[in-house]
Amino acid sequence: MNHPAPSFGSRRSGRSGRSGEARAREARATSGVAASLRALDVRPSRRLGQNFLTDPRVAERIAAAASGEDAILEIGPGLGALTERIAASGRPFVAVELDLRLAEHVESLLRPYPNARVVRGDILEQRLESLLPGSGPVTVVANLPYAITSPAIEWIVNQGPRVTRAILMTQREVAQRLAAKPGTKEYGGFSVFVALHAETRVEFRVSPGAFHPRPDVDSIVFTLTPRPYPGSSAEERAAVERLSRAATGGRRKTLANSLGHGLGMGADAARALLERAGIDPGRRAETLSVDDWLRVARAEGAAR
Ligand code: SAM
Repeated sequence: MNHPAPSFGSRRSGRSGRSGEARAREARATSGVAASLRALDVRPSRRLGQNFLTDPRVAERIAAAASGEDAILEIGPGLGALTERIAASGRPFVAVELDLRLAEHVESLLRPYPNARVVRGDILEQRLESLLPGSGPVTVVANLPYAITSPAIEWIVNQGPRVTRAILMTQREVAQRLAAKPGTKEYGGFSVFVALHAETRVEFRVSPGAFHPRPDVDSIVFTLTPRPYPGSSAEERAAVERLSRAATGGRRKTLANSLGHGLGMGADAARALLERAGIDPGRRAETLSVDDWLRVARAEGAAR
């Protein structure tokens, strides 16, 4: 898929602009999901980020984006909106679901597919080698639960080179933070972390009407392709993570103050480090690009 990146403006779903047919389709899909939840005695949990996808066209587009030869790991299959479409491809498939009633439901959906299985549990406590033994490439697919969006993305990039890509749906604000440019209000430690370890590409936008219950904001589907930041070593990337994390939480402070405080070294030592790196200590942490942070990491490494 190669759709142009939408601008992240504050587009609401535009209820009034939709045709009667679109509204009727949405109502049918929503009532199907609501009926399944009632039958399973599941009340959607906010804590587990349970906004279930009701629009089959969106599910189709996500499944198409995940096509290929890789084994598939799905995080949080829920009622299985994406699951069967992907498992039917015959590739090795595992879905990890924390809600036991939903896990059981998905297990019954997957019974006809010997290539597929469900693991009950928290994705953040799993190891890829146990979920999909072997060394083959893996694509991760998820409509991510809101509460674990950042840790789940961190988990994905920490699984190493077997994960070739992830097709992920998140609330718009998360996608904005992922793709944010230095100096913008969305840019922060998470943006630096993701840029260090992956490339991201927006695929398409999904309106709140495609889910039950209906969230307040749009969602974005994007592809995340893990890769080391060009020209950096593993040690440098680890140092950038440590330094940029240390400097967060001080959005109004100068870099010398926030870094000095975060590293416990004091503002004067931080100022000296930044000057050695050729970075103005009076800047704010949220204006530093990954290249800027790499300069700080290298200056720190050279002083050891
Ligand atoms: N994939 C389904 C869909 O698109 O309709 C459900 C998506 S819903 C946004 C998120 C799902 O993740 C829920 O089924 C929820 O129970 C599950 N979940 C929440 N936290 C989880 C965790 N830590 N590990 C695995 N699954 C989790």
